[in-house]
Amino acid sequence: MKVIVINCGSSSLKFKLFDMNESNELLAEGLVEEIGKALSKFTYRASRVASGEKVVRQIQAPDHTAALGAVAKTLVDPELGLFRGAIQVDAVGHRVVHGGDKFSRSEVITRQVKDVITDCCTIAPLHNPPNLAGINACEQIFAGVPQVAVFDTAFHQTMPEQVFLYGIPYELYERHHMRKYGFHGTSHEFVFRRAVELLGRPAEELKIVTCHLGNGCSITAVKHGFSFDTSMGFTPLEGVVMGTRAGDMDPAAVLWLMEKENLEPSAMSDLLNKKSGLKGISGVGNDLREVMQAADQGNARARLAIEIFVYRIVKYVGAYAAAMGGLDAVVFTGGIGENATPIRARILEPLAFLGLSLDPERNGSAAKEKEINTPDSRVKALVVPTNEELSIALQTKRAVAATQQPR
Ligand code: ADP
Repeated sequence: MKVIVINCGSSSLKFKLFDMNESNELLAEGLVEEIGKALSKFTYRASRVASGEKVVRQIQAPDHTAALGAVAKTLVDPELGLFRGAIQVDAVGHRVVHGGDKFSRSEVITRQVKDVITDCCTIAPLHNPPNLAGINACEQIFAGVPQVAVFDTAFHQTMPEQVFLYGIPYELYERHHMRKYGFHGTSHEFVFRRAVELLGRPAEELKIVTCHLGNGCSITAVKHGFSFDTSMGFTPLEGVVMGTRAGDMDPAAVLWLMEKENLEPSAMSDLLNKKSGLKGISGVGNDLREVMQAADQGNARARLAIEIFVYRIVKYVGAYAAAMGGLDAVVFTGGIGENATPIRARILEPLAFLGLSLDPERNGSAAKEKEINTPDSRVKALVVPTNEELSIALQTKRAVAATQQPR
């Protein structure tokens, strides 16, 4: 079974094509950037074609359908393509950021599913519209092929009411579905499941904290196999400090700043989402590697940005250990979680009081997937590379298979 995974942003379209055989082989991948501009950049690579070399081209892609058209054309290109004649894809998996409180698992896309994704545009105005554009484009270009929506929010739908409700009048929750949703669910679920395999114990016995640390960062408490709490909220702005996002702060401070700086809601949203976090504090940038380099060279604000970044994560892990009434493992993933050895050490060292003892040598080893605690550590610490696209492809395969079961 061949599954193509589509991830659309406002001006980008990413795809990965998998053969869902035993090794879930990645056949091709690509990215169209700057959709809507006069010329768009198309990057493409197919593992078994042209020695897997990356090909970069300028294309005309005024919208997502045109971008996907260019992808489809390349997949049947005599020189670069994987298919002769027509594309043979058995299912399309879409990353959909917000499924609101309607979806707790992946869904085969029907008219009704699309209507709910459309309804969720009001609470995810930046993310859901391009996701829908991707779905519409695929309905045209892969007509008749089953399409599946895999939601970033679905894994967190198991959070109990006392966790997901904010301390505001209950009617606002009823009227606007204003509550904590959480994001990065596909990644948290993927690494949690792998961690359970590595720990060799049943998920029902385990209390795990998963740390997805990339440009966006979120921490999730997975209790007995289900998401119990997560740091992101109604939007992906809540929680820890991120590359460009502020994370938790006093809502009254936001209102005060809007008044003092004469900021409209959209400008304030820009400030909190795009100009804050590591970038805003350090003044260096959002890329942790650059901030770490500046800190090493003595840049005081870069050092402070890293201290704040680490402190907030430690605070969440501790809070979740208390909320779950225990902790068996901390799992790191994402660009930072997988690669930033010194940051992992700084997060884990203060957790020694919980019974977590870090092994510096294992932490610094070259292995991608690894246990980084000492052998006698009661609480385990793991690094598990995430693979959101593969997770989407696996969930797509499962959702399609479920519709084909005899009733
Ligand atoms: P996204 O959330 O956009 O998918 P990634 O998961 O790729 O992003 O994470 C990007 C972040 O990972 C950047 O801040 C980058 O600096 C950081 N990162 C990647 N490799 C390293 C490394 N070796 N050391 C420190 N930070 C790293």
